[in-house]
Amino acid sequence: MSYKITSKTIDDNLKRKVSEISGQMASKCFQCGTCTGSCPMIEQMHITPRRLMALLQWGQADALRNVNTHWICASCHVCQVRCPRGIEIPKVMEALRLIKLRTNENYIEPSNLQPEEIIDLPQIALVSGFRKMTS
Ligand code: SF4
Ligand code: SF4
Repeated sequence: MSYKITSKTIDDNLKRKVSEISGQMASKCFQCGTCTGSCPMIEQMHITPRRLMALLQWGQADALRNVNTHWICASCHVCQVRCPRGIEIPKVMEALRLIKLRTNENYIEPSNLQPEEIIDLPQIALVSGFRKMTS
């Protein structure tokens, strides 16, 4: 997924909000890619964690709105343990989710689930999915 960064698309408000909620400074990231190389969920993500950090550094709120990376993140903390800059990346992912959920928009809509999906999915997966992805 490509994205063109221009001065018109820069929104520092998002970076500030993420920093307030997560306590993490995206600007500390020096784009080594260790997080991406360590992430077990990478194949399901629209963009890599490294790229997400780059878009955040550049305040690319529109681009981040349309990617699933922070929703797919399993909060396994592997990237955090390996990040040479000590960035707690799962907290950044959580902040991005919270910012969206605080607008009362759900990432998954429980009422759209089909009965066969509800029967097949483990209860614990449903509950944790609703807690993470609904407002
Ligand atoms: S591991 Fe840390 S420093 Fe390296 S790209 Fe990821 S967030 Fe940035
Ligand atoms: S915490 Fe999220 S982004 Fe980091 S390695 Fe685990 S799944 Fe990937």
